Amino acid sequence: MGCGTSKVLPEPPKDVQLDLVKKVEPYTGHSDIYKHFIKDDGGAVIKAGSPSPPRHTNPFPGNPLPAQAAQPEPRKNKVAKYRAKFDPRVTAKYDIKALIGRGSFSRVVRVEHKATKQPYAIKMIETKYREGREVCESELSVLRRVRHTNIIQLIEVFETQDRVYMVMELATGGELFDRIIAKGSFTERDATRVLQMVLDGVRYLHTLGITHRDLKPENLLYYHPGTDSKIMITDFGLASARKKGDDCLMKTTCGTPEYIAPEILVRKPYTNSVDMWALGVISYILLSGTMPFEDDNRTRLYRQILKGKYSYSGEASQAWGILNATLKLPFYWRAGFDNLKLLDENLKTLYGI
Ligand code: ADP
Ligand code: MG
Repeated sequence: MGCGTSKVLPEPPKDVQLDLVKKVEPYTGHSDIYKHFIKDDGGAVIKAGSPSPPRHTNPFPGNPLPAQAAQPEPRKNKVAKYRAKFDPRVTAKYDIKALIGRGSFSRVVRVEHKATKQPYAIKMIETKYREGREVCESELSVLRRVRHTNIIQLIEVFETQDRVYMVMELATGGELFDRIIAKGSFTERDATRVLQMVLDGVRYLHTLGITHRDLKPENLLYYHPGTDSKIMITDFGLASARKKGDDCLMKTTCGTPEYIAPEILVRKPYTNSVDMWALGVISYILLSGTMPFEDDNRTRLYRQILKGKYSYSGEASQAWGILNATLKLPFYWRAGFDNLKLLDENLKTLYGI
């Protein structure tokens, strides 16, 4: 399949449909790092949308946004704890300042380059277990190839037997997720600006044969705290990077449940249009402040996605009409790249951006 990842499933059986949903069990691995992941029988990884306990409260009606991990420990203790986990080669060059992100396989800290005083982010991934190694390989194979204003840039990498430390550009403006929580929903103009920046990044990735496969507001970061900040795509742990001439179809079952495209759920070989699906879900969230597909019960959630059953609870708007028509929410998924162009052109015409 040539998707640049070892998370490959066997050929999909003919009668899968909702069977996948029944087979999905919580993973009970050795390390707490993996507790937010679920595995299916084929060994594929699905990143859970709602790691517990919740970090955010959603003040808005409708389907609440999935919450993220809480950080109950005092900050000082945490920094000391994570500082101790760093390889001396890393701490010789960088001062560890604060823990800023805690993903399912990783910890992200803000650091300062000792010589230049320049701030950076370091993502530390545990590679002792297979899942961590796979996520790390995917992420590095993509980050080493990309350079784009809307994509987080890799600076350097330190590798030890059990951990990999990726030094990256630091985004100080927080996650898009947090701004949605703070604002409720975005105006059409603001939503358009966000989408155009994400689309620019996604178009670049797709041109290189890279599919992100985990686009969601938690993985879209603001470069600085200002309202005019650019957005940057991050977290390439589930990305697929294909080389030229490779079969362009992917088969690995992965993603975050609320954003996962139907073709992945039914285990059809799929294309980079799964990123378009996720963009459709993100567009919906931006404009309405609620999730299009949400259910605590994963079987029901996947059923909703497979049926494309959603209703738009925000105000009827011109932008929504355009998104709906161009992304063909939820049935865009045959069209892919052309729709990116069409969406971009339509939004430009509407707002002159
Ligand atoms: P995971 O694969 O574990 O979700 P991410 O790469 O998404 O890891 O990082 C987890 C969180 O850490 C992000 O959602 C974000 O809040 C924060 N983060 C990651 N990279 C950066 C960065 N370069 N600058 C600022 N914050 C970051
Ligand atoms: Mg992430």
